[in-house]
Amino acid sequence: MNRYDVVVVGAGIHGAGVAQAAAAAGHSVLILEQQAPAHGTSSRSSKLIHGGLRYLESGQFHLVRESLLERTLMLRNAPDLVHLVPFYIPVYRTTRRRPWALRIGLSLYAVLGGFGPGTSFGSVPRRQWDQLDGLDTKDLDAVLVYHDGQTDDAALTRAVVRSAVQLGAEVAIPASFIAAELEPDGVHVAYAVDGESRHCHARVLVNAAGPWATQVLERVTPRQQPAAVELVQGTHIALAGSTHRGIYYVEAPQDGRAVFVMPWHGHTLVGTTETAFRGNPDDVRPLPEEVAYLTAIVRHYFPRYRSREPLDIVESFAGLRVLPAAKGGAFGRSRETLLDGDRHDKPRLLTIYGGKLTGWRAAAEHALQRLGPSLPAARRRADTRRLKLKAD
Ligand SMILES: Cc1cc2nc3c(=O)[nH]c(=O)nc-3n(C[C@H](O)[C@H](O)[C@H](O)COP(=O)(O)OP(=O)(O)OC[C@H]3O[C@@H](n4cnc5c(N)ncnc54)[C@H](O)[C@@H]3O)c2cc1C
Repeated sequence: MNRYDVVVVGAGIHGAGVAQAAAAAGHSVLILEQQAPAHGTSSRSSKLIHGGLRYLESGQFHLVRESLLERTLMLRNAPDLVHLVPFYIPVYRTTRRRPWALRIGLSLYAVLGGFGPGTSFGSVPRRQWDQLDGLDTKDLDAVLVYHDGQTDDAALTRAVVRSAVQLGAEVAIPASFIAAELEPDGVHVAYAVDGESRHCHARVLVNAAGPWATQVLERVTPRQQPAAVELVQGTHIALAGSTHRGIYYVEAPQDGRAVFVMPWHGHTLVGTTETAFRGNPDDVRPLPEEVAYLTAIVRHYFPRYRSREPLDIVESFAGLRVLPAAKGGAFGRSRETLLDGDRHDKPRLLTIYGGKLTGWRAAAEHALQRLGPSLPAARRRADTRRLKLKAD
């Protein structure tokens, strides 16, 4: 039976990140992925590498700071995968977030970003408003502009998997995790490849199965208590034709939520929603009411879409956020990654819940730190802060 220091379930951005960090630290690693890298949430995000301006409203300063530092690293290490894009925030007479409040937020954003690349901001002069992709200028008071990162989430995930493999990690795809048994010196892992069951031993098992994480935990003995989390669905639609100037960060007229209208592979991507989800993560699909919500926003801000019935939607997709369970809406809930280990001084199991695409590397390094006591001394092969990532 093969023995590994770390076995990771899931080749989403978090599983890929942990595999890269563990392999860089000199450990032997196996990743098990049931479908393909980025099969889950990591191909269905808003594709932003950002601090998250709106997280300032909910006081998530640590998250914003860490994410902006990670953004700086990715701009340096993955220039073919992550680039800065102008973000336009139109402020109308009725917009809840006023220009002065946004300027304070953007100043704080620049401070938390250490005044690094892309932290300057300003306003678009009124005479240039007609160059903003047909944005409605009626009752428009101001348009603020700042910068944040955009990526191809699936390509980024694949690049991190490749980086892990270059550092010596093994990848089994398709390979489905079946069960694990915690033993005094590690974990016995059972998984299936082409319907055939296989076994290996790990010093630690990392459950990076994203929305499937609680399903994975249910197959661990002795039984582990999952963290109190909920799944919240987010849908995007892609419209024919692209915006050219950059990304529009608008306030949904229906409920004041922040929504993005973005250029994406020659189309215009609009998202996202927050809809409570119960059921099997395999079954997540865009709902008609979510599509109606997003199309109403586009029509509200871009008059040229008002006369088009129906809108030319070329694609729609839905992903699942893993958020701390709480009453009320999902908008203000923490987006921090939650790392939950088995209650053991040398953890044998670590589950990664939630988090951001942007924070994958930092989350992976935090995970590895938690696993330190369970892992053997090893000779470091690389520093993940300096590893270059290349597009495929
Ligand atoms: C709508 C939406 C928009 C978002 N936008 C952004 C954004 O713009 N910027 C940002 O920074 N973050 C964003 N996020 C957050 C970010 O996308 C997620 O935090 C991140 O992608 C989660 O990655 P993950 O690796 O934890 O999970 P996933 O990507 O879901 O990966 C889990 C993997 O585990 C595999 N798996 C599951 N069960 C098994 C099994 N039994 N055996 C083997 N493999 C298994 C799955 O196939 C999957 O590939 C967004 C999230 C959502 C939902």
